[in-house]
Amino acid sequence: MSSAATPAANGTTFVKPDTSAWKLSDLEMKETLGTGSFGRVRLCKHKNGTDYYAIKCLKKREIIKMKQVQHIIAEKNILAEISHPFTVNMLCAFQDDKKLYLVLEFVIGGEMFTHLRSAGRFPNDVAKFYHAELVLAFEYLHSKDIIYRDLKPENLLLDAKGHVKITDFGFAKKVPERTFTLCGTPEYLAPEVIQSKGHGKAVDWWTMGILLYEFIAGYPPFYDDTPFRIYEKILEGKVKFPNWFDSRARDLVKGLLMTDHTKRLGTLKNGVADIKGHPYFHGANWEKLFNRHYPAPIPVKVKSAGDTSNFEKYPESGEDRSAPLTPAQQAEFKDF
Ligand code: AMP
Repeated sequence: MSSAATPAANGTTFVKPDTSAWKLSDLEMKETLGTGSFGRVRLCKHKNGTDYYAIKCLKKREIIKMKQVQHIIAEKNILAEISHPFTVNMLCAFQDDKKLYLVLEFVIGGEMFTHLRSAGRFPNDVAKFYHAELVLAFEYLHSKDIIYRDLKPENLLLDAKGHVKITDFGFAKKVPERTFTLCGTPEYLAPEVIQSKGHGKAVDWWTMGILLYEFIAGYPPFYDDTPFRIYEKILEGKVKFPNWFDSRARDLVKGLLMTDHTKRLGTLKNGVADIKGHPYFHGANWEKLFNRHYPAPIPVKVKSAGDTSNFEKYPESGEDRSAPLTPAQQAEFKDF
C-alpha cells in the first residue's frame, strides 16, 4: 500500500505506514473496542512501532453462514478506495484460515452513541457541527458512487480532537450514478429505473434527517415498541417536533425526511448543494470545515495513545475451536 496523507485520528496528518508486509503475527492484540455480527474489533500495535490501530477480526464461518461474503468483500474494497477526514482510514487487510482482518486507524474518542446518550441531547450548534462534517463525508462517498446505508450514532466515532468519523462499511455498496437525465431507450427502462425504486443515494440523506432529529431531540423521530409500528410511522411520514426544536433545523429535517425520495433534499437537481446552502448552515465555511479548522464542540479525553477509556469494557473471547473450513469455503474469500 502506498503512503498517503490524510488527517488522522489524533488530529495531525495521518501518514499511512508501508503495510505491504504486515501479517497477523506482527501485531500485538490488546483490548476489545467493540463487537459486530461476525467478530470483534480490537486495539492493536505493531511490534516494531509505537502507533495503535484498530483491527476488525471477522469469522469466515459466520460470514458464510449469514451469506455475507460479498458484503464483506465490498466493505474491504470500499475502505481501500476511500480517504476522507470524516471516514475511518484502512491501513491494510489480510486473512488466515479462520478469519478476515481489516486494520484501521484507531479512532480514540469512542462512539458518538455514548457521547449522545451521556449528554441526553445536543445543543443545536453541536448537532450542526457534526451534521455538517457528515454532509461532507456523504458528499464524498456519493461522488464515488458509494452509498453507506447504515448511518446511526453507533457507527460514528470521535477522533482525539472530537471530529466525527464514519466506521463500519459492512452495508456500504457501490451503485451506479442516478442522474436526472432520463437516458436510454424508453421502451426498455425497468419500472424501478423509472420510479427509482430500490435504493440509491437518497437513503443516506433520509438517515441524515433521522440523525439530525435524534441529535437535537435526544430520541429518533419515528419511535415505538415494535419494529412493525415503527415502520408504520415511517411510512405515514408525520414528524412531530418538540416546540423548542430550532426552526431551521426543523425545516432541514423535513426536507431530508421526505417520504417520496424524488422530493428529498440531497437528491434534487442541485444535489448536496441544497443541503449545504440550506439556511440551517447559513455562514458555514465548508472548506474550513473539511480542513478541520474549527474546534470540535465536545472535548475528548485522551490519556495516552492506546487509551481505551472512551470505549465500553468487553469480556475477552475464548479460543476459537471451530472446525477448519473446506477448500471450497476458503475459495469464497479469494477476492478478499
Ligand atoms: P463495527 O463492526 O465496524 O461496527 O465495529 C464495532 C465497534 O467497534 C464500533 O461500534 C466501535 O465501538 C468499535 N470500532 C470499530 N472501528 C473502530 C476504529 N477504527 N477505532 C476504534 N473503535 C472502532
